[in-house]
Amino acid sequence: MTLLLTSVFGPYGVDDAYGRKENKMELFHNQVTREQGIFSYRFNHGSQGLYFLAENIDMPTAVLDFPTLKRFKKELKKGYDYIGISFIIPNFKKAKEMARLIRKLSPKSKIILGGHGVNIPGIESLMDYDYRCKGEGIYFLRELFGEKMDAPIRHPLEYSSFNRQVMGAPWPSDSGILITGVGCANKCRFCATSHFFGKYIPYLKTGRDIFDVCCRYEEEMGITDFGVLDENFLKMKDRALGLLELMETHDRHFSFAIFSSAETLKEIGDLDILVRMGITFVWVGVESKREIYLKNKDTDFPFLFKELKKRGISVLASLILFSEKHDKKTIWEDVDFVTSLGPDYVQFSPLGPIPGTKLYDDYERDGKLVKDVPYESQHGQGKIWFHHDHFSRDESEKFLRLAFDTDYIRNGASMLRVIKTTLAGYQYCSSHSDRRVKCRLPYFKKRLKMTRYFLPASTLFAQNRRSKTLLREIKKAYRLEFGRVNLRTLVPSLAVLFFSIKEYLRCRIISDVRIPKTSYRRQYKVPPQENRSAKPFFSDGAIPKIPYRLAEQPERS
Ligand code: SF4
Repeated sequence: MTLLLTSVFGPYGVDDAYGRKENKMELFHNQVTREQGIFSYRFNHGSQGLYFLAENIDMPTAVLDFPTLKRFKKELKKGYDYIGISFIIPNFKKAKEMARLIRKLSPKSKIILGGHGVNIPGIESLMDYDYRCKGEGIYFLRELFGEKMDAPIRHPLEYSSFNRQVMGAPWPSDSGILITGVGCANKCRFCATSHFFGKYIPYLKTGRDIFDVCCRYEEEMGITDFGVLDENFLKMKDRALGLLELMETHDRHFSFAIFSSAETLKEIGDLDILVRMGITFVWVGVESKREIYLKNKDTDFPFLFKELKKRGISVLASLILFSEKHDKKTIWEDVDFVTSLGPDYVQFSPLGPIPGTKLYDDYERDGKLVKDVPYESQHGQGKIWFHHDHFSRDESEKFLRLAFDTDYIRNGASMLRVIKTTLAGYQYCSSHSDRRVKCRLPYFKKRLKMTRYFLPASTLFAQNRRSKTLLREIKKAYRLEFGRVNLRTLVPSLAVLFFSIKEYLRCRIISDVRIPKTSYRRQYKVPPQENRSAKPFFSDGAIPKIPYRLAEQPERS
C-alpha cells in the first residue's frame, strides 16, 4: 500500500481558470510586506503539514509539493492506493481538478481531502473524494490505515522556508521548522485554525521534547534558528521554561520566531526570559485598538512593543479590517493605532468569514455572506465577501491597500525596521549584566553582519522619507558599533546591489511572480532489523540508510 500527499498545482499568484493573482504562495509578499516594492521579502514555505504527516505514519508515502499539473498527472501513473490533497478554500478549483484527474488516470486510488478547504459547505456534492480529514491529520491517517494510534510523534527536519530572496539577493535557507502543536485554546470568533483543530493539540509536549528536536537539527543540519508553527507557543509556560532550562544547562543556544497572544507574553512576566530563550521574532494579534478580544484585555501595547523591540525582538502586529465596529472613520483609528506602535511588520487582514468558524456561522445566519463570490476570490488580499454596513466590496480592496501604504509611509521598509531592532538587541545584550542575556550577543552580531550588506542597495531604492531616516540612523549605529565599511563588507554589498537592480528591472519589465520549484520526496520507513525487506517499498527506488528521515529524491521531470 502506498500514499501520495500533495499540495495543489501551480502556477500560483496568476489569474487563470483556477486561481487569482493576489493569492500568492509567499507569506510575507502576500500579506505583510506586499506594498513595499523591492523591500518585500520573497520566501516560499513548504507544505510542512504534509512532511509532518508523512513522518508519522508507517505507510510508505511520497510528498509532492508545488507540482505543475503535468507533473501531477505523471505521478498518478504510479498507481498509489491513497492520494491526499491538502488545500485551502481559495484553491478549491485546483483540488477539484486534481480529484477529477485521479478518478480518470488512477481510478483505483482512494482520495483523501485535508486542509481548511474541507470545511466548504456541501463539499460532498461539489467534488469527488473518498475521505475527508476535518482537523488534525496524523491521528486521522493512523486510524484510517489501522496503524498504532499512540505511536510516538516523530518530528521531521525541514527548512522553514526556501527559494528565499531579499532585495533580489538570495538569502540562504538557514532556519528549520518546529511544529510544537496545532490549534489554539482561545478560539477567537474569526480564527480559522483554532476552529479547524477544535482545541490545542501538542505534538512536542515538554521542553525536553523540543530541546531534543533542536539538538537533532543542529547535529544533522547545522541549524540553530527555528520558525515555530504553533499559534501560541508560550501558552504552555512550563514547556517553554523547561526548554530554557535545558538550553542554559547544556549551553546550547537556539533562536526562535514565534506566534504569541499578548496575554501569553504578559504571563511570561520578565521579558528578559524571551531574550534568554532566543526569541527573535514574535507575531502578535493586535486585531483592534478596542479591547474586543479577551486575549488583549488590559494590554498596554505601546509599552509591550517598546520593551520587546528594545530587547532585539522583532514584532509583527496583525490588525483586522472591516470588523463590525469599523466605519470610514474608526477604521483609520485602528490603522493609526497599530502603525503608531512602531512594529517591524504589519499584517492587515480583512475580516474573513471562513467556513468552520463561528464568524461564518453568524454571518450565514444573518444573511451577510455574498453568495456569488467564487472560492478562488475568497483569499483575503482583495475584496471582502460579505455585506458590510459601511464598505462596499470595491471600497474594501482600496482601503486594504491604503492601510498597507499608510504603514509603509509612516514606518518605512520593514527590512530596515528589523535591522534597527536587531541593533537595539545587540546593544541591549552587550550592556546587560546578566551573563545569560549577554551570551545572546553572537546571534545579533551574525545577523547584523549579514544585513549590513543590504545598506547600499537600500540607499539606492529607499522610497520614502521614513526609510531614508531609518537608513541614516542605522548607518550611524553600525559605524559606532562596528567601525566603517571595509573591503570585506563592500564586495558582498556590491553583489547585493547588483541583484537588487536586476530584481527591480525584472519586476518592472517582466513580472514579479516567483513560482516555487516542484519538490518530490519519498518517505521510507526502515523496518526493524529482523523484518527488513530486501525490496524497496517503491519499485523504482532504493531504501536509504537513514531511518525515519525524508529521503531526498531529485526531481526528474
Ligand atoms: S489567540 Fe490567535 S491563534 Fe488563538 S484563537 Fe485567537 S486568533 Fe486564533
